[in-house]
Amino acid sequence: MKAWRFYGFNDMRLDDVPEPVCAPGHVLVEPLCVQPSVTEAQLAQGIPTLAYDRVKRRLETEAPLQLFGHEFCARILQTGQGVNRFHRGDRVAARAKLPCQDCSLCRSERSNLCRKGPVIGFDLPGCFAERACLPEIALVKVDDRISDSEAACLQSLSDSVAAVETAALRLGDTVVILGQGSMGLECLQIARLAGAGLVLTVDVRDEACEVSQELGADHALNARTSDPVAAIGELTGGIGADVVFECAGGSPKQGLAGHRTLLQAMDIVRSGGKIVGVSWFGGPLPLNVDLLRERSLRYLFPDISTQAHLEHTVRLVASGRVRLKPTIKHVLSGIESVPLAFDITANKGKYKAINPAQVMMRGTER
Ligand SMILES: [Zn+2]
Repeated sequence: MKAWRFYGFNDMRLDDVPEPVCAPGHVLVEPLCVQPSVTEAQLAQGIPTLAYDRVKRRLETEAPLQLFGHEFCARILQTGQGVNRFHRGDRVAARAKLPCQDCSLCRSERSNLCRKGPVIGFDLPGCFAERACLPEIALVKVDDRISDSEAACLQSLSDSVAAVETAALRLGDTVVILGQGSMGLECLQIARLAGAGLVLTVDVRDEACEVSQELGADHALNARTSDPVAAIGELTGGIGADVVFECAGGSPKQGLAGHRTLLQAMDIVRSGGKIVGVSWFGGPLPLNVDLLRERSLRYLFPDISTQAHLEHTVRLVASGRVRLKPTIKHVLSGIESVPLAFDITANKGKYKAINPAQVMMRGTER
């Protein structure tokens, strides 16, 4: 079968590789729609972010290597021994970070805290290939009302559900979301469902602000044309927001905000409020911790998304409570177009993309 393999950073090739064998507790799938995550697209170009050192080491010692491809919708071709939740023909999506199922945390039903399990696309071959063998515990069945294209976004959405759960919103809380890429727009919609009061969003791209407004922001502020800290101060009567989701940070070369938006979050949040860190910065940051201490700020990070989070995403999208279609702007066709999808996703600002670029692996159906 054909699969994309990495020979190094900035060097991916479409190779013929052996067919994967369906192991016990696993299913064999054919990917229908796949998208690189922003993290994967940056790693492919050797840009430091989450898991950079690990990917670099694997490329140096194991290349050529099948990497990435955890955001997908796939159809099951075969089920392995002991698999009973799924059948041939089912469409499935996945969560990426899996519990090891063996440590004391996993055995005491706190597997969301386990860091020993494999990650699809990093430790296990993902879906930038004609077929893939995936662990049953990663998967969820996709409802018929959800398109292949939308289903490929469920992994990211499950992380956003986990992020909003971390915030433990109270009814009527004022929520600010910095960054209206795919996770920012997901956090916006889930926060509204979770009882947020005033919801204010910030981005530097007109197209992202437009989608944000369409998906329910009370005010979508463009930080290029106005000062978001001053505007939010005014809109909250000088008090600040109860909760700020920081979804904009990361490499400025890719159009992300560096750590400027984290500093803004500290100015936007009220005393005693929460900042939920969704972004990856790609390295250590200078941060005034005394300021956090003085204002009793909580800087929180989401847990890994669980099976329950992933199942919840299916209900949210199938029922229309979370809308993903307005965020999907680039849909490519055929496995050969995977490198272009990586380039678009690594440079979303340049291409006016919101969600990562998707690849329909089997032609143009959506
Ligand atoms: Zn474990």
